[in-house]
Amino acid sequence: MNAPLDPGLYIVATPIGNLGDLSPRAADVLARADVIAVEDSRVTAGLLRHIGVKRPMTPYHDHNAEGVRPGLVARMATESVALVSDAGTPLISDPGYKLVRDARAAGHTVVTIPGPCAAVAALTLAGLPTDRFLYLGFLPPKEKARADAIAEVAGIRATLVLYESGPRLGACLAALAAGLGEREAAVTREITKRFEEAVTGTLSTLAARYADAPPPRGEIVVIVAPPGEAEPASEADGDAALAEALTRLPASKAAGEVAKALGLDRKTLYARALEMKQ
Ligand code: SAM
Repeated sequence: MNAPLDPGLYIVATPIGNLGDLSPRAADVLARADVIAVEDSRVTAGLLRHIGVKRPMTPYHDHNAEGVRPGLVARMATESVALVSDAGTPLISDPGYKLVRDARAAGHTVVTIPGPCAAVAALTLAGLPTDRFLYLGFLPPKEKARADAIAEVAGIRATLVLYESGPRLGACLAALAAGLGEREAAVTREITKRFEEAVTGTLSTLAARYADAPPPRGEIVVIVAPPGEAEPASEADGDAALAEALTRLPASKAAGEVAKALGLDRKTLYARALEMKQ
């Protein structure tokens, strides 16, 4: 018999496909917890079978969380409660944050056992910048709400991480291409499973690839590169803008306007404006 854990809440990350990714510490906590709060007991039973343990389970999912949370938090005073989701890290597009909040508010110990997370695993496969990324979870399924959600993040200088399902992938990529323009992206699928893949390309090529193809099977994470740096304005850009501004403004004002708009040197532009006027 394993020694019991101290009372409190244990957030346990579980594999996203390959059971070998369950960490020894996660297995140890699951084996010793007084009760495991689960999304789907059939899924977690499979994981427990894999590590050869039997523990009591109690359902905790989107449809019953409000009702069962107070009782679960109360149990944490004297029992160890492990929280798992069907796959990956609880709280990441999965239930759990309110349980953590309430457990903490009640003064209980909260411990995390980190591990697999599809968003982070996809970032490691995509080969796109990882210094700043924005996790968007699932975009809204309806066209207008999805376009609005994309427009909201279009200017953000960060790699975007989205969860998507096979049947919606084509429409999602088309909406991303329309809303974000030509950016590098990756469609990662079935991570840690037999048919793991990462298909890379620009948003428009990926949108075209998945537009008419049968929906890809399995689970998907889409990664989109940040917007590119704007090309610095050239001398020719400066001349063109100056020529236009001189039709409306005196040389000094035209130079000032173009300098501000294109980030060019005002004095140089002024000298050029005088040349152009002659
Ligand atoms: N909590 C999970 C995590 O840590 O990644 C995410 C749960 S969310 C309900 C499920 C979504 O995660 C799937 O629809 C898919 O977008 C993504 N996902 C989960 N496992 C995956 C895998 N093996 N490969 C690709 N995407 C995966």
